[in-house]
Order: sequence, then C-alpha cells, then structure tokens
Amino acid sequence: STLDSLNLDNRYAQLPQRFFQFKAPERLRLPGYLVGLSTDTARLLGLDPCQLNEDQLVRIMTGHASLPGSEPLAMKYAGHQFGYYNPDLGDGRGLLLGEVTTAGQEHWELHLKGAGQTAFSRFGDGRAVLRSSIREFLGSEALHHLGIPTTRALAVVMTGESVRREQLEPGATLLRVTPSHLRFGHFEHFYYRQDHEGQQALLDFALQNYFPELLSTAEPAAELFAEVMQRTARLVAHWQALGFCHGVLNTDNMSLLGETLDYGPFAFLDFYQPGLVANHSDDRGRYAFEHQPDIVQWNLACLAQSLIKLAPVEALKDSLQRFPGLYQKAYRERLSQRLGLDPVADWPLVKDFLSLCEKGRLDWTQLLRLLAEQRLEEAEALMKEPAMAVSREAVDAWLLAWEERTGHYFATKQQRQQLLESRNPWVLPRTHLLQKAIEAAEGGDFSEVERQLAIFKQPFDASQRQPGDWESPPVDKQCLSLSCSS
Ligand code: AMP
Ligand code: MG
Ligand code: MG
Repeated sequence: STLDSLNLDNRYAQLPQRFFQFKAPERLRLPGYLVGLSTDTARLLGLDPCQLNEDQLVRIMTGHASLPGSEPLAMKYAGHQFGYYNPDLGDGRGLLLGEVTTAGQEHWELHLKGAGQTAFSRFGDGRAVLRSSIREFLGSEALHHLGIPTTRALAVVMTGESVRREQLEPGATLLRVTPSHLRFGHFEHFYYRQDHEGQQALLDFALQNYFPELLSTAEPAAELFAEVMQRTARLVAHWQALGFCHGVLNTDNMSLLGETLDYGPFAFLDFYQPGLVANHSDDRGRYAFEHQPDIVQWNLACLAQSLIKLAPVEALKDSLQRFPGLYQKAYRERLSQRLGLDPVADWPLVKDFLSLCEKGRLDWTQLLRLLAEQRLEEAEALMKEPAMAVSREAVDAWLLAWEERTGHYFATKQQRQQLLESRNPWVLPRTHLLQKAIEAAEGGDFSEVERQLAIFKQPFDASQRQPGDWESPPVDKQCLSLSCSS
C-alpha cells in the first residue's frame, strides 16, 4: 500500500493525559532530501517500496504533511542517567506519530526523531543532526540483520536547517519503527511520583498490548519483570559476543521489549579492547564495553524497584538474581559458536582466544572471519604481526588446539566453514565506515548511505565484500569515542 492508505492507530493516546503531551511536528525548513530509505522496513509496515511517494515521505518527515489518523504526542518518562535519577525526562525531540496495524495485525509505532521541541525538551533544541541520524539509521538496520533485537528505521531526511552543536551542522529527522517505545524509565516515572493509578494503567497497557500471554498468570507484574530480564540478558549477551558498545545505557534508553534502543555514540570494537568507552562525555567509563552486563543488571534493579507495589518483592529479587547466570550462559554460547567450539568443554580455549586478541590489539572481527573462511595462513599472519605482544608459540598452540577441537565437531572443513561463515559477519557498522557515509551525505551525496545499507543487509555474505569495507580502520581512526551531543 501507499503512505496515504496507512491509517494510524493511537493506542498510547488513550492513556490518561498525564502520560504525554499532544504536539504536532514542527515545520522544518525546506528543501528536505531523502538521505536513506530502508525498503525492508517499508515492507514491514505493509508499504510497497516501489509505490512509495518519496516527496510525500519528505513532507511528512519535515512536518509539512501528516499521515492519516496520526495524533502525534511526546511521551513522558523519567530515568537514571549515569546513576542518578532524573524525573524531568521524556520525548524532548521525538514524537510518537501513531502506529501502523498491518494486515497480519502487527503493530508498529512510528517515532519521528528531530521533530522539534516538546514540554520535555529542557534545554534542548528539539533537533537532530544528520551525523547521528545516519548513524542510527545504518546502525539499527545493521544490528537487525546481524540478528540483534533492535528498533528499526524507515528513513532519514536532511532538512534545510542548520543545527548548532559543537559547530553548525546539517539538521535531519529519522523515522524510527518498533512495536513499542516503552522504556524502563516509564515505570520509574510513575513509581517516583507515587502515582499508583498511573503505574497500574501503564502496567495494564504494557501487558495487554505487548505481553498478553502474561495476563492470565497469577502475578503478571512479576512475570513481566522476569520476561524483560530474560530478553535483556539475551540482548546484552548478543552485544558482548559481537562487540557492540551502546554508549549511553541510562534506564531511559532501555527498552521494555528487550531491544537495542536510542542509538547515540555507539561503537563496535575495532580491536578487542574490553575497556572501550564509546561516549567521550563518559569520563569515568561507566558505560565501557566490559561494564555493560553489570550496568544492564543495575538498570533491571531500577525497573524492579519501580514495580514493588505491583509484584511480590521476593519474585522480583529472584528474577534479578537469575540475571548473571542467564547472561553468562547466553554469552558463552554465542561466543563459542563463533569459533565452532563448545561453550562448556572448550570455554578455556575461547577465553584464550579473547586474551590473545586483547593483548595483540587484534581486529577480532576480521580474524574470526578469516578463521571461518578457512584462510588460516592469513589468520596466522594477522595473529603474529610483529608489533604484537603475543608470542608466536602461543599463537601456534592456540591454532593447533582450535583445529583439534573443531575436528571433533565437524566431519569436514567445508561443514565448519559453512557454519562459521553464517555466524561471523565480515562487515559491521564501525565508526570509520559510517564516517565515510556521513561525510559524503554532508556534501550532498547520499549514494554511500545507500551502498552501506545494502552491505549491512548481508553481513554474512562476503560476495559483496570490498577491501575498503573489510579493512581495519587506519591507526588514527581506531576506537574513536564520539560526542554525546547529537
Ligand atoms: P538521550 O541521551 O538522547 O537518551 O536523551 C536524554 C533526554 O534528553 C531525553 O529526554 C531526550 O528526549 C532529551 N534530548 C536529547 N537531545 C535533545 C534535544 N536536542 N532537544 C531536546 N531534548 C533532547
Ligand atoms: Mg534517550
Ligand atoms: Mg538519544
């Protein structure tokens, strides 16, 4: 179908008025340009990408047209930022436009990020810049195709406005798509306000719309928490096994659905560097890559606290205590699978691999792909690069043990190759790569955004591989940390 035939529902707008502020998107300066469009996301919404009227999409995303049935609003929420509770959060620059209901009765919320100021903007200008919008667009679509639960993105539009950050930058809007934008911070808001009715209404809304199977259980709020805990444990295991650092894991950026949400200064590890801090305003490294599992558990504790009036405390505590075990199991499975090894019997060998990667500052993504593709001489050469702090003997010993152990699990090397290629991406949305797309787009050329979107859609299929996408970043571009102001 076409944009005109989408008829939006607005279930969130049925909640009491104090849950949100009705607000129309601001009319942003024209001309606006369609920088990127995800045809996959369009299809999710039931849109036919070939029939999609791009001018109309640009008008909608710049506030000059609206979708039929849309009742745009800014959601109220709160949250813990860098460990401290902030009651004054909410959609400060993004608006929920409504939700699409597909022929198969799936619901997809449409959220326009960069749509102007709201009651919750505090000191912010309500705007988004092109740089971060492209990063969220490509980053979220890439994570989806890597198999990591995430919000999706339909499109990025560059507006005719300049936006002031450290300097003047081109402005943009992003249309984000997910079944629900509910955050841990929604529950915290009603808990800290001691608004019991609001809390109950929020719980009912979440259960009915997103977890209906829990309604018939004896303790739905406790079951909800257990479910969110499990999803979140699996999510963070997936991040750690692929080297994704979110950058700003505040509780307002944690999705109730267990998806990756609110892409800011995220980064994939270029070299295996557990201490990577992606966000350069995070001076204490609270959200360093290696802290993510503990931080996520801390965030879950905040959610549990906010549910104490709705669920037995013992049940909440019990779920929270199950997190480390669940996380560890999921993490070891995912990481071991990348090497074709057993998560229990071979765990010491997997750990040795990580420690070689860390000591040698290895591009582990590339190394894992070389191992998967059976390019063992190149893998060995990479591991033995002269500048490395790893002995040649240690590398030889590890490679020998790996061949020996995988020999037990795979009848042939072809079998090993086939499976490992499907588990080890050759490309990731790394900072230096995204930077190329951003620089081209800032100069008015959007073809690199389109090209990267196409490669990120097939991260396990190297037939499209080009040297520039596969290579490690140059030394001066390794593991750059990014500004949070976006
Ligand atoms: P974030 O760090 O992006 O998750 O945002 C934290 C809070 O600041 C949320 O309430 C956002 O809506 C708000 N915010 C972030 N950037 C802006 C902006 N440019 N204008 C208004 N509010 C913003
Ligand atoms: Mg946020
Ligand atoms: Mg944000």
